[in-house]
Amino acid sequence: MTHTSPPALEADNIHKRFGSLEVLKGISLTARDGEIISILGSSGSGKSTFLRCLNLLEAPHEGRIALGGEAFKLKRQKDGSLVAADSRQITRLRASMGFVFQSFNLWPHMTILENVIEAPVLVRKTPRKAAVAEAEALLEKVGIADKRNAYPGHLSGGQQQRAAIARTLAMQPRVLLFDEPTSALDPEMVAEVLNVINSLAEEGRTMLLVTHEMRFARNVSTRVLFLHDGRIEEEGTPDKVFDDPASPRCRQFMASHR
Ligand code: ADP
Ligand code: MG
Repeated sequence: MTHTSPPALEADNIHKRFGSLEVLKGISLTARDGEIISILGSSGSGKSTFLRCLNLLEAPHEGRIALGGEAFKLKRQKDGSLVAADSRQITRLRASMGFVFQSFNLWPHMTILENVIEAPVLVRKTPRKAAVAEAEALLEKVGIADKRNAYPGHLSGGQQQRAAIARTLAMQPRVLLFDEPTSALDPEMVAEVLNVINSLAEEGRTMLLVTHEMRFARNVSTRVLFLHDGRIEEEGTPDKVFDDPASPRCRQFMASHR
């Protein structure tokens, strides 16, 4: 193995403000293939904003982003924020960044199977038959193959989130971004979703994970970041960040989230 292959995802010096509120004050992160990086921090610390800046759902004011060594082409708007300069490039790169939200975001008028094949057929131009076969395998993998013809409204929250994960995987993303994937779920459904995420970790997928499931984050992560006041306040191995953080704020956060 050489070390010349570019990182799966690189973000360098990301800044973001909303009006006069500076939410991100220069966040940098490099995820190598197979790394699982958990991002922790109090509510309002900018975790979602950071993930959303990575695929330009939010327009950062400064910074550089690259996926598999390919830098995002950015242009500055009048308000100072950066947006995609090349819509074809961003469409392609976004398709390689699977985003799983707290709120599932399945299309309610489509069956689970239709939800999963929609983007591969429309964006990736996968032939429908191949997309269906792939979708069925993914629904099997997340344990809801029997729900393929059901509508999202007829599934539990945990099943809907597993369907949303299958839909994301159908695009064969290079990296997966999870933003509090279990926060909207009833407690009894959290484990079934964490089990799916854990199986993805075991496959060696590259993931960024924002979560309040502290024990899970500790067990699954190769690295943990703690955000505070727009900066990375602490960063390291799970053991280091959870048990022996240098930052008093991080220590306090860990103590109050046991
Ligand atoms: P977290 O995900 O860590 O809870 P967020 O990234 O959602 O934090 O929010 C960080 C800060 O940015 C909060 O103060 C929030 O109110 C603010 N914020 C987030 N999105 C917007 C927006 N679209 N407009 C204005 N302020 C926002
Ligand atoms: Mg958030």
